[in-house]
Amino acid sequence: MTKQKLVVGNWKMELSHKAATDILNSMKKMMNGSKFETQVVVCPSYPQLPQAAAILKASSLEVGAQNIHYEDRGAFTGQVSIAQIRDFITWSIVGHSEVRTYIGDDDEMVVHKAQMLFNNGITPIVCIGETAQERDAEQTVEKVTRQIQTLLASIPRTSFTKLVIAYEPIWAIGTGVTPEPIQVAEVLLLMRKLIAGRFDEAAANRVRILYGGSVTADNIGSYMAEPGVDGVLVGGASIHPRDFLSIIEAVEKS
Ligand code: PEP
Repeated sequence: MTKQKLVVGNWKMELSHKAATDILNSMKKMMNGSKFETQVVVCPSYPQLPQAAAILKASSLEVGAQNIHYEDRGAFTGQVSIAQIRDFITWSIVGHSEVRTYIGDDDEMVVHKAQMLFNNGITPIVCIGETAQERDAEQTVEKVTRQIQTLLASIPRTSFTKLVIAYEPIWAIGTGVTPEPIQVAEVLLLMRKLIAGRFDEAAANRVRILYGGSVTADNIGSYMAEPGVDGVLVGGASIHPRDFLSIIEAVEKS
């Protein structure tokens, strides 16, 4: 079975309402002229989700959230639940390193959120990766193994094969410092071995695993050339429609 490649744009907290509207409209226009087999998801901020869903409705672009809260409702000032946004999204990122750092999500919380997304028919994009300190201490394998094992312990095979994993070395996010493509391939191979060990080879091969971390139109080709890279999670470059389109085109060609 050939897997559909996937490009996800994480817009972070970068855009005004007007800028987001302009970008949504220009991406829709640019994508309409092209027939991509690659699946493309954009993840704007919460206030922009209704308009993103409306603008992209008849397009090939899909909409995701950047995070969700772990409860459906309640006294959680400033938070947003799945119930409040599920009409507008089909995807959500969980466990992004910025959320882990600033909000305090840990691996158990990330699994809980992924389960809640599945319960609501929304596909989780689960971010996994090591810090610079962990990399320097040669603890990448240990960290990635622990994060994958936590997911594997709680998510059954049928759901697991549908989720998307994004390998994002934290030191590569927004820094312009990137790992060697071969290093990414090695980590992805490790992930698939762990998945195969828990389930089987078929499950391991079915899960889509993305690379994320300072992806640009210039470096995307080298990552997509590695075996097992099913696409990319793009931050900074995703809010520039032409750059984002170049990345999608490169993924499509790979
Ligand atoms: C991200 O936000 O997940 C990300 C990878 O950002 P950037 O592409 O800017 O490094």
